[in-house]
Amino acid sequence: MEHENANAELISVMVPCFNEEASLPLFYEEIRKTMSEMSAYTFEVILVDDGSKDGTLPLLRSFSLEDGRFRYLSFSRNFGKEAAMLAALQASKGDYVVYMDADLQDPPSMLPKMMSVLKEKNVDSVGTRRSNRKGEPLLRSIFARMFYGLMNKISNVKLVPSARDYRLMTRRMADAVLSLCEYNRFSKGMFEWVGFTTEWLSYPNIERAAGKTKFSFWKLMKYSIECITGFSTAPLMFASLMGAFLCFAAFCGIIVIVIRYFIGVSSAFGWPSMMCVVLFVGGVLEWSIGILGTYLSKTYLEVKRRPVFLLKESSETSGDGHSVDRRDSVTENVREE
Ligand code: UDP
Ligand code: MG
Repeated sequence: MEHENANAELISVMVPCFNEEASLPLFYEEIRKTMSEMSAYTFEVILVDDGSKDGTLPLLRSFSLEDGRFRYLSFSRNFGKEAAMLAALQASKGDYVVYMDADLQDPPSMLPKMMSVLKEKNVDSVGTRRSNRKGEPLLRSIFARMFYGLMNKISNVKLVPSARDYRLMTRRMADAVLSLCEYNRFSKGMFEWVGFTTEWLSYPNIERAAGKTKFSFWKLMKYSIECITGFSTAPLMFASLMGAFLCFAAFCGIIVIVIRYFIGVSSAFGWPSMMCVVLFVGGVLEWSIGILGTYLSKTYLEVKRRPVFLLKESSETSGDGHSVDRRDSVTENVREE
């Protein structure tokens, strides 16, 4: 490690990488430039290979050989960005930790500014948000806006619209995030849930430096359901509210029928109206069961207590390439059925 100043504070840069062979060489250059500009600090860069199928892992190996500040972890398969973020945080040793994407959409050049804001404002976290969504597909922007609107209505945890995962935190906040040991992870929610004070910096959206996005529209939809079920139980109220509404409607219907009977008007509206009622009630029931099922499935995954990720190799393992880093707490409580 390049320890120019043994007393300097350590910053851990944490980067999830999934099939990032195209953007990693560019990222490597950029982050090294930033590190050399911030000579008052020492650095470690933790790159997590999230089961990549391309040349990502050999690149990570070569970075760590070339520059001792670069460490890497490699998963046995693709466990998702959230798992990679957890692995990096668990491995980090820094007084400060910062998440960054490998595609340079989170510009490393902003780090000095983030660090000075953290110190000047005496806060525990500096988050970043995009001031626009230039270059993003329209449908994705519309759904993102709807999602943040809905989420902030139904959850106690308030999400900042357009917030990125690019975030600098103090060690005490990082430890607070680590104390949340849930299996279904949604970092943006967890960062807000743990509290502490956050300052926000805005910057215009930057398009990916190279390669393609790893989040399809459906993957993002699944991710938002993760967030809703993880941070709100409001959907569970849906069944009770609909039940109450239908009871009220049925009660009004009965009164109308009784009145019509006494004034001598027939109340038989026939088959079509009956079908509508049957389908409506059936639909509401199915929907409610679906919502219950979603929460149940999340609970099922939590109680199984499977590890969030499994390692197959890391810069600290002694080169056989297949041993699992046993020091990792997550891999220690493997309890597969
Ligand atoms: N990523 C990951 N595992 C995944 C998907 C993505 O580690 O299953 C990483 C990816 O390599 C990148 C970051 O998460 O560093 C953000 O992904 P991406 O840029 O594809 O998402 P977008 O910016 O398009 O939302
Ligand atoms: Mg990206």
